[in-house]
Amino acid sequence: MDGTPHRDEIRTTCAYCGVGCGVLVRPDGNGGLSVRGDPDHPANHGRLCSKGFALGETLSLDDRLLSPRVNGTDTDWDTALSLVADRFSQSIARHGPDSVALYVSGQLLTEDYYVANKLMKGFIGSANIDTNSRLCMASTVAGQKRAFGTDTVPGTYEDLELADLVVLVGSNLAWCHPVLYQRLAAAKAARPAMKVVVIDPRRTATCDLADMHLALAPGSDVALFNRLLSAINDGGALDTAFLRHVDGFDAALRAARAQDRNVAGLPADQLDAFCHLWLRTEKVVTVFSQGVNQSSSGTDKVNAIINCHLATGRIGKPGMGPFSVTGQPNAMGGREVGGLANALACHLDIEDPAHRDLVRTFWDAPTMPQAAGLKAVDLFERVRTGQIKALWIVCTNPAVSMPDADAVRDAIAGCDFVVVSDLTAKTDTARLAHVLLPATGWGEKNGTVTNSDRTISRQRAALPAPGATRPDWAIMAEVGRKMGWHKAFDFASPAQIFDEYAALSGLAAATGRDFDISGLTGLGEAGYAALQPTRWPVTKDGGTERFFADGRFFTPEGRARMIPVTARPPEARTSPRFPFVLNTGRIRDQWHTMTRTAKAPRLNQHLGEPFLEIHPQDAAALGIAPATLVTATSPTGRCVLRSLITDRVQRGQVFAPMHWTGETAPTGRIDALVPGIVDPVSGQPESKAAVVALAPF
Ligand code: SF4
Repeated sequence: MDGTPHRDEIRTTCAYCGVGCGVLVRPDGNGGLSVRGDPDHPANHGRLCSKGFALGETLSLDDRLLSPRVNGTDTDWDTALSLVADRFSQSIARHGPDSVALYVSGQLLTEDYYVANKLMKGFIGSANIDTNSRLCMASTVAGQKRAFGTDTVPGTYEDLELADLVVLVGSNLAWCHPVLYQRLAAAKAARPAMKVVVIDPRRTATCDLADMHLALAPGSDVALFNRLLSAINDGGALDTAFLRHVDGFDAALRAARAQDRNVAGLPADQLDAFCHLWLRTEKVVTVFSQGVNQSSSGTDKVNAIINCHLATGRIGKPGMGPFSVTGQPNAMGGREVGGLANALACHLDIEDPAHRDLVRTFWDAPTMPQAAGLKAVDLFERVRTGQIKALWIVCTNPAVSMPDADAVRDAIAGCDFVVVSDLTAKTDTARLAHVLLPATGWGEKNGTVTNSDRTISRQRAALPAPGATRPDWAIMAEVGRKMGWHKAFDFASPAQIFDEYAALSGLAAATGRDFDISGLTGLGEAGYAALQPTRWPVTKDGGTERFFADGRFFTPEGRARMIPVTARPPEARTSPRFPFVLNTGRIRDQWHTMTRTAKAPRLNQHLGEPFLEIHPQDAAALGIAPATLVTATSPTGRCVLRSLITDRVQRGQVFAPMHWTGETAPTGRIDALVPGIVDPVSGQPESKAAVVALAPF
């Protein structure tokens, strides 16, 4: 088949990562879909990765939740949602609005997210709504807001192809954002002079493309980029004209100079070679992901990277800039729509009284919270202590994916009233629910998502909603109406929600915020149905490709801020009792807790069970043989994994994937081993530096 879409193909986007690839789908007549890459989508130009190609194999209904359930018994929607509305209303009346909470997901579509936030922040009057994106990129949000005044990604995917040097920090792009990796590999093949540097304690598949791999010690990123900032200053690479648009250079440089020249784990000649390459290459993009974000110093790491780009003026220009890649398909949409407990819609700040007032007036809301709500780790702690008495979990599986997962599972089990909306009743979290609400999933629902380079794309339904399933926005709007807010939640379609959201963005932009999609108001049902991938901002007069090359930022002063940062090691320290540092992450062919990808047989063939990468010398010292079971124990939990002996990991470090759960060995509940230690600014957990002990099983 050529690249031209076939007449009966439907344009939508992939369900998985933040690359946000466009796909063309066609019902196969047996309840499934044929899937191919959309040649016209700007994120992927027809490419897909293994997960995207297998999307059509994940649609069987055998494990689907097809009817609302209360205490294990099927019921009708009216009974289930009346119960949810009543129990939430009772808790609010007796214990106040902060006695209820929503925990949502970067898998949700923007319209779902918008309704969830409006319900909680505008009408229930609590900011206790957080998202699993807190585990993914909250440190980038916090770092970008500190530097730019707003959570703005300055550049585009094309910048990775235009750069002469791409530095990948804490990013296994080859497995976690495979199509972006394919684009980078193709660009490097076309221009072999282009250099790629990977900064990661572990030798990942991404290193196959690298000219240089810096295997720094876990948590050393700030020290490395502070060293680079000193070298930029000493090497005459400052952009003094651009620095007129930047505050804080002197303090940031002082902090950088105070740093030891030795960056843990790196020999001086490698460090010098990296700095030399960075200084002499003007077109440099620094891509960063979870190795930066999932750290107790994640926000500082983000700012250490941004500092170097601000000092050199290498930002917002073709082939230049710091570039965060997000894990989930709509982590960006969730950030934009205010999905985090410390945000409001359209990049407005919940702690700014004028912003709160703007949103309250626009929504005609009875109340607004006066401060940020509970971030994910704190939210589940309040569930554990009983202060949160009614909890609604939407489209995510925190009993597996939260740090200290066993404690989170027990906290949910002990909560007075738990509602779970999901595709299936078979997750560890859904099993704990009093009320289960059957949601439509990918291929069945309509809405929008935003990918890592600010491109808003439509997800479109190609299959009928099975059983009694409903879209998440419709479920939450109905609860809002049942709680008494009829007019505010009188949405009949995602197009209506999007229109309201776009109108709010115009008001937000008028106050000096970056996020503006006011040019997409008034699309109507037909215009929304036909909406093509569009990178924001989108005003009535057009938009702008990149931000900040003109030196205009969104801080009150209009200037960027360099932040003085000092390297801190991970919070959990190894000891004779727990002598290994545990790194966690994704594998190529699975997604999150595998509720979708495990349904595709070919995706299970890549790596079929949970494993632990361990260095050969460590394995020998512990008497661990290849492919045998190993018990990993941390202060918070225990798990049993298959040994994979490899020098991809350094001595003293081990790696395990994040996807598996299970009651019998090997059990991959790896987040049971990760402590609930968070970055003090972003609240993002440190998921890549737990400490563990190992022993043959
Ligand atoms: Fe889907 Fe990401 Fe793969 Fe693209 S790269 S097909 S968005 S999983």
